[in-house]
Amino acid sequence: MPRDRQNAGPCPKCSVGKVSCTYNRFDNGPERIDSWEHRCLSCSFRETKAFRSGEEPPAEGDPTTCPFCGRKVPGP
Ligand SMILES: [Zn+2]
Ligand SMILES: [Zn+2]
Repeated sequence: MPRDRQNAGPCPKCSVGKVSCTYNRFDNGPERIDSWEHRCLSCSFRETKAFRSGEEPPAEGDPTTCPFCGRKVPGP
């Protein structure tokens, strides 16, 4: 399972901690879930977004681009 984590800069809530941007992809038969998470290591700040894509192309946004910081999934 591809998993990718990067530093996404200082936390907007506590401004002390660093936010990590994590990308996960789950393949579940014909359905694919691209999941993004920003989480602060010092406070409870956390935001997540998951894109579910089956046979149809996703209706909203690009699942390979983080909706929070805009970084792209690194290619293979
Ligand atoms: Zn924080
Ligand atoms: Zn991000």
